[in-house]
Amino acid sequence: MTDEEIRICHFLWSQFFPKDVFILQDNRLSLAGVLYDYFRSDEGLQRFPILANGSPAMSKSGNIVSLSVQELTEHLPFDDVESILTTSPQEVIACYSLAISRLANTWTPYADPPLVIHVSVHSLSTITPFSDIKSSTVGQLVCIEGHVVRVTCGSPLMIQGGFKCAKCQQTNMVYFEDGIYDVPPQCKTKK
Ligand SMILES: [Zn+2]
Repeated sequence: MTDEEIRICHFLWSQFFPKDVFILQDNRLSLAGVLYDYFRSDEGLQRFPILANGSPAMSKSGNIVSLSVQELTEHLPFDDVESILTTSPQEVIACYSLAISRLANTWTPYADPPLVIHVSVHSLSTITPFSDIKSSTVGQLVCIEGHVVRVTCGSPLMIQGGFKCAKCQQTNMVYFEDGIYDVPPQCKTKK
């Protein structure tokens, strides 16, 4: 990676892995690198045109790109795409988000701060029956199917938040353990 690419990855890392120190040797950064190389390739862009240069989804920070797990499994050049997504969804989806945000910043190289694109996934190959949703599935990604018989307002669980520093205008991402809201005591930006 060039110095500029490292700078962008470092920024993106603080968005998607706010609790963890940025280390170039981190396996998650390697996975994001493999994903980035694939999505940037001619084949990747042909399979996933939503990621192409000029796609509206890639042009604005905060956008969400929704990807089909079945398509990822079919096209990505490695095995276990679905199993690693279902067993460690938070970490792996963050790797996808980092890769695709990096790609967005390749298309828009002078964005300041760099663009941040979030990934969501859908269409797992198997549907999990309700009776199989137990404590062992907590933290995993499952696909469920059923009839809606009653709807109430959901209460959102806030897992992370971005706080813009009034002084330097940089956004600090904060991870809320168990959804407990907490304002950062100070700006994390290096002076
Ligand atoms: Zn600041």
